[in-house]
Order: sequence, then C-alpha cells, then structure tokens
Amino acid sequence: MDILKKRILEDGIVLEGNILKVDSFLNHQIDVGLLDEMALEFRRLFNCEKITKILTVESSGISVACAAGRVFGVPVLFAKKGNSRTLSESTYREESYSFTKKESYVMNVSKKYLSASDTVLIIDDFLANGLAIDALLGIVGQSGARLAGVGIVIEKAFQQGGKKLREKNIRLEGLAIIASMTNGKITFKE
Ligand code: 5GP
Repeated sequence: MDILKKRILEDGIVLEGNILKVDSFLNHQIDVGLLDEMALEFRRLFNCEKITKILTVESSGISVACAAGRVFGVPVLFAKKGNSRTLSESTYREESYSFTKKESYVMNVSKKYLSASDTVLIIDDFLANGLAIDALLGIVGQSGARLAGVGIVIEKAFQQGGKKLREKNIRLEGLAIIASMTNGKITFKE
C-alpha cells in the first residue's frame, strides 16, 4: 500500500531493538483518513470471505480494527489484557509475551461474543515474532470459529511471525512489509 509506505518513510523512527515508532499516525496520534484507506485495502484483500467478526488485541490494534469493522459491516472484538474485573463472565484465555514491553500477559475474550458460527478476520498493527497473533489464533481455535485470515498494517519480515503463519498455511496480508531496518534505514519487501 503505497500511501502507507510513504508515510512510514516520512514519519517512522527506528528505535533500538528493531522497534519502529509510528506515533504520528498509528500508535499515538491517529490519522483516521489513512485508517479508512487501510480498511478498504483489507476489504479488497479479504473480499471473498464471509467475515462475521474482526478480532484484535488491545490497545494498539483497536483503531485499525474499528476502521475495518466499519467497511466490513461487522462487530469488532478486542481481547482484553490482564484479569479485567469487568470481565466476570466465562472467557477464552491465552497467554502471550509483549514484544515492546518485554513481559508476559494474559488475554481474555468473553465466550458471549465469539462462537463456532463466526468467521473471523484477525487484525493488528504490527507483526514481529507473532506471539500476539498466536494467542489470538488460540482464542479463535478455542471458540471453534473459522479463521478467514490475518491482516497486519506493518509486517516486519526480518522477524519470524510472518514466516511461522505462512508455514501454517494461514492467509496473511501485510499492508506494508518491511524487509530491513538496518542502521535506521527502512527498506520494504516489494
Ligand atoms: P509480536 O507478538 O508479533 O512479536 O509483536 C506484535 C505486537 O507487538 C503488536 O501488537 C505491537 O503492538 C507490538 N509491536 C511489535 N513490533 C512493533 C514495532 O516495531 N513498533 C511498535 N510500535 N509496536 C510493535
């Protein structure tokens, strides 16, 4: 997606530890118009699927998932991190490890909102080593829902997440795929 790549090159800051900071349009201040473009691109890519629900994880996946939810015309469900006191009902629960915070956490999704009758599109902002997506896949698996695929805004192809998902034959679409960020220079895959 050229407009996204252009924005990453203009605004993205490469931090230590292979972290890309895109706080000016995605992770802090949000460019809603750009999110709408991303959502349309996800719909074009996953058009053949009868998606009934978008699933993401709080908090940075929520904005793009909501934009996608609007164009697909389906509800957006986000996994809640930690043991939320407001989530008293029965949940699907998975453990994960945060790439940016370097700590383990649990995520929960209420069983009320995801079931075997759903076809799910998982959306997130970044794909690095794939642990957040693995946990979301675990939740989809527990619910018995069908997985349509995984849509990612920025895939860092030099990390292992994308490779692992494609090896499992999971349909993965990254809107901008970064091949390398060596010495602060961002290079895209195609
Ligand atoms: P993974 O579980 O694939 O290793 O990491 C994915 C999660 O970590 C994403 O949900 C995202 O919030 C965060 N993340 C991974 N890499 C980056 C990055 O380069 N920049 C930012 N801002 N977040 C990242």
